[in-house]
Amino acid sequence: MYFINKKTKEKGEILTKFEEKIIFRPEDYESSSKSSLIKKLEIYKQDFWLVCPCSGSETILVICSKDNNLYLRCKNIHGHEESCFFSQKSKIYLSNNSSLFMPRKRPKTFDLYKNIDNIGDRSEEAPSQGNQSSVTKLGKMLYAILQDSKSNIITYDNNKDPTKVDRFASLKAITKAFTDPQKKISKDILLGDYYRYSLKRKNVQEAGSLLEKKGKEWPIHLKPFFIFTTIAKSVESSFFITMNSESFEVENPITLPSPWISKEKSKPYFLIASALLNEKKELYFKNAFAMPIQTRNIIMPVESHYERLCLFDIVKVLKTSPTISYTIEKPLFCLYNNNKKPFRPDFIVFLDNRTTVFIEVLGMNTNKYCSTKKIIQERAEEFCDTYLSVEAYKGLDSQVLFKRNFKMVLDKHEEKSLQKSRFSLKKTA
Ligand SMILES: [Zn+2]
Repeated sequence: MYFINKKTKEKGEILTKFEEKIIFRPEDYESSSKSSLIKKLEIYKQDFWLVCPCSGSETILVICSKDNNLYLRCKNIHGHEESCFFSQKSKIYLSNNSSLFMPRKRPKTFDLYKNIDNIGDRSEEAPSQGNQSSVTKLGKMLYAILQDSKSNIITYDNNKDPTKVDRFASLKAITKAFTDPQKKISKDILLGDYYRYSLKRKNVQEAGSLLEKKGKEWPIHLKPFFIFTTIAKSVESSFFITMNSESFEVENPITLPSPWISKEKSKPYFLIASALLNEKKELYFKNAFAMPIQTRNIIMPVESHYERLCLFDIVKVLKTSPTISYTIEKPLFCLYNNNKKPFRPDFIVFLDNRTTVFIEVLGMNTNKYCSTKKIIQERAEEFCDTYLSVEAYKGLDSQVLFKRNFKMVLDKHEEKSLQKSRFSLKKTA
C-alpha cells in the first residue's frame, strides 16, 4: 500500500505491513498504536491519495477527515477486487473521538457563546430521540465537555481494579476539556478563563469581581458570564445543594436530561450553571442543567435512575468474567448509520475490542416510545453484534432477565475467543 501524488501521480511513501493491517482492521488496534499512522495520513491528506493493495482496476482511496474523524473513502467501489474490503464498504474509519468507529455528529453545541440570552432556551433542534429533546444549550455544552473528557467511558483491562475510581482524575479531565484553548466564547475570549470547576460561596464572589473587572473586554453584544460546575447532592426546581451542603438559587427552573425523570431518585448530579452580574454588580445564577451521575465518585453520566441501575448491573455481570477486557460507553450524541439516519443506544459495551453490545434501557411502555426504540434497534443492528434491552419499568424480574441474557452474551464471546485461539494454535503448529 502506498501514497500517490494527486497531481503528478508519482508514487510516494510505502506503508509498512503493520500500518496496512491497522487500516484494514482498525478495531483490532488500540488508539495509541493507531495515532502515528493517523498523524501520517493527516500530513499526506492534502496532496496524496492512498492506493489499495488489491489488484482491482481503480483502487484509489481518498483520505478524509470530518468532525475529528479520519477515514478512508474509496473513489470507486467497483474498482476493487471482489475479495477486497472496499468492494463491500466504501469507507473505513481510523480515528474517532470515542472508542466507536463510526461517524458521529454533534449538535451545534457552542453557539450558545454567541448569545448569552440563549442559554436558557430549549434547543430548536429536532430531537432525534425522545430523551434529548429537553436538553438545553447549557446541557449540550456539558454533554460535549463530558464526551471530550471521556467521562462517559469506563474501561477495564484485566490488570486494573475496576472498583478503584479516581474522582480527582475525572475532575481534572473535565477541567482540561473546559480550558481547552479551542473552546472560545468569542474570538479573543477563552471559555477556560470564565470557568470554575468548584462551586463555593468564596469562588462566586471572586468570579463576580473578576467579571466586573474583565467583563469590559467582552464584545458589546455579549453579556459577560461565568460557568461553574459542581457535584450536587440534590436539585430542586429553583435551587441546588452542593456536597458541602451549600445551597444556591437559580433564576430559571433547573433542567435535567428529560423532564419526566424524578429529581429525588436521580441524584447525585454533575451540575453546570451559568452566572451573570445583576445591576448591583452581584453575581447570580441564571440557568443550570443537572446531569445524573453513577455515584458522587464516579462521574459517569446517566440519563435516569433506571439507567444508573442498569449500569450497576452491567458492571456486576462483567465482573463475573474477569478475563474479558471491556469498555462501557454512554453515548451522549447521536450515531449515524450508513444512510445517515441517527440512533443513540443507552449504553455500548465493547468486549475485548471485538464484540459490540448495544444496551437499551426502556423507561416506559407507550406505543410511541416503543416504536422509536424499534427504529433504533434496526439502525443499530448494522453496527452491533448483540442488541439487548431491559424493560426497566417492569421492575426486578426484567433486571434479572437482563443480567441472565447479558451473561449469556459474555459466555458466547468467551467461547468464541477460545475457539479462535485454538484455531491459531493449530495454524502455527
Ligand atoms: Zn481494494
